[in-house]
Amino acid sequence: MENIVKGDLFQNFLSSLDTAANMISCDPNVLTRLRQPRRVIMVSVPVRMEDYSVKVFTGYRVQYNATLGPYKGGMRYHQDVDASEVAGLAALMTFKNSLLNLPLGGAKGGVKVDPNLLSRTEKQNLTRRLTTELGPFIGPTKDIPAPDMGTDAQTMAWMMDTYSQESGFAQPGVVTGKPIEIGGSLGRNSSTGHGVIYITEQVCSRMDWKMSDTSIAIQGYGNVGSHAAHKATEFGCKVEAVSDVSGGIYRKGGLNIADVDKWIEENKTLAGYPEADSISNEELLELDVDILAPCALDGVINKSNMKKIKAKAVVEGANGPTTNEATEYLHENGIICVPDILANGGGVVVSYFEWVQDIGNYFWDEEAVNVNMKKVMTKAFSQVWDFAQERKVDMRTAAMAVATRRLERAMLLRGLYPR
Ligand code: NAD
Repeated sequence: MENIVKGDLFQNFLSSLDTAANMISCDPNVLTRLRQPRRVIMVSVPVRMEDYSVKVFTGYRVQYNATLGPYKGGMRYHQDVDASEVAGLAALMTFKNSLLNLPLGGAKGGVKVDPNLLSRTEKQNLTRRLTTELGPFIGPTKDIPAPDMGTDAQTMAWMMDTYSQESGFAQPGVVTGKPIEIGGSLGRNSSTGHGVIYITEQVCSRMDWKMSDTSIAIQGYGNVGSHAAHKATEFGCKVEAVSDVSGGIYRKGGLNIADVDKWIEENKTLAGYPEADSISNEELLELDVDILAPCALDGVINKSNMKKIKAKAVVEGANGPTTNEATEYLHENGIICVPDILANGGGVVVSYFEWVQDIGNYFWDEEAVNVNMKKVMTKAFSQVWDFAQERKVDMRTAAMAVATRRLERAMLLRGLYPR
């Protein structure tokens, strides 16, 4: 595993884990085990291309820890995918699922490929052969993939179909994030963005801030950011700024989100939106708002701009938007930072609900999905908030500590077999 642990993402994870483990006096044998993945699967994936040639891509699935239940985590198609990155992401899934009290372990997978260079047929061929190669290791009781960067509901439909064809019967529970027609869950699409706002509601309630007096800036107006903006508006928050890859828009007192959607539908990006001021993505992060929700990229709040952040709370919709150094700075300066493994957990919670519905063959209405997701998120938030207050630490450290404690207890109860 020597090469696996070398990557930045994995090293960052190890440093957070060590701090959290030290804080809860974690059993040293458990910690040693938690510092490395259980299994790293690497496969060659031959794919028939449009010109009838065959290209061979490299695929990975890292199954990090299955103490709490079947492995669960996304499947990423990106040109920068490597074993170390996938292992780091698999580790984070393990701790996210533990923190959210889900009966799931952690995994992640990926293929080193630029999905934009593949035709639809090539992407389908790649996905089906990848599923066949991973066949012995995945399944509704073993390991349940989901969409991630470069993959979507259609990719999951191909995975589900391939696995089902090879089993001889429909197996919707093998993946989550599927289209509704083949066993997907209502509310899955909006779940991460809505979860970000449920967490914001919890912050406001603990701080005695009124949601309807609260202003919010959201970086990113994709799946997470746009659903967060809608939910925030429902709560009466003033969504003063949003952005996408083309830049940001700002209107003191709040944007009309329905109007912004209409603009995007007609123009594809936010650029040129006439009812607000244009700002850059960097300026958006430094706005004088109550809540800042980075919902696009990692590393955007860092050494270079951490001193300019004016928001009272940062709620991380994206994965890893705040560096460790910036987290520390914000905490020391009284800015609350709710970490990604908590704030963007709504997606995996509803993925879990999708799996429950698939294996139970009984589907819920959207209200049941939302009410139950909110319950899970609120409980996890309380545990993290209380730990952070009691131990006077930042919420990222608190979240890792709560997640590590649950894993430690479960691992000690199950014991080591064979010895
Ligand atoms: P998306 O592709 O739907 O949207 C991304 C948004 O970011 C778009 O508005 C895009 O224009 C914008 N963007 C891209 N490059 C940018 C740049 N250089 N500067 C500013 N904005 C830029 O993606 P998403 O699903 O909304 O995911 C966003 C983040 O949330 C990612 O970090 C992802 O890993 C994380 N996340 C997503 C989910 C989910 O369920 N979708 C769950 C957990 C975490």
